[in-house]
Amino acid sequence: MTDCIFCKIVAGDIPSSKILETENTLAFLDISPVNKGHVLVIPKEHYETLTDIPDDLLSLVVKDMKKVAVAVMMATKADGYNIQMNNYASAGQVVMHAHFHIVPRFKGDGFELWPGREYECGEAESVMDDIKSEVK
Ligand code: AMP
Ligand code: ZN
Repeated sequence: MTDCIFCKIVAGDIPSSKILETENTLAFLDISPVNKGHVLVIPKEHYETLTDIPDDLLSLVVKDMKKVAVAVMMATKADGYNIQMNNYASAGQVVMHAHFHIVPRFKGDGFELWPGREYECGEAESVMDDIKSEVK
């Protein structure tokens, strides 16, 4: 994809702070980190979202991500980490080249996760049935 910023990073046309490069995967520092050590992990080949990535490639990328997550924890002395993936613009995806965020987390860093809501009577059963019927 010629107009994709992450494809340009893979090609070396744009500089990046590379952490790990394998045949299939590239991991590099996010240019605008939530916390220092925030890393992005991408398949080098261009796919837009999680479900576009072929299963065999996805499993390789996730294996590499696991390796990098351990390195991030160790290097930043984080207390934990979030793995986040935004799929589609409505979920906050800005760069349309599939990528996982590894965000190191520290006790008291103040970042809140999403608020939890409550189901009205019967809603959980209804949405459960709807989702189950879509599982292929
Ligand atoms: P998302 O909202 O999930 O699409 O996240 C895109 C991420 O890419 C953001 O966290 C940006 O800070 C990051 N980003 C954008 N351009 C670059 C770049 N040239 N190098 C490293 N990270 C980038
Ligand atoms: Zn791309």
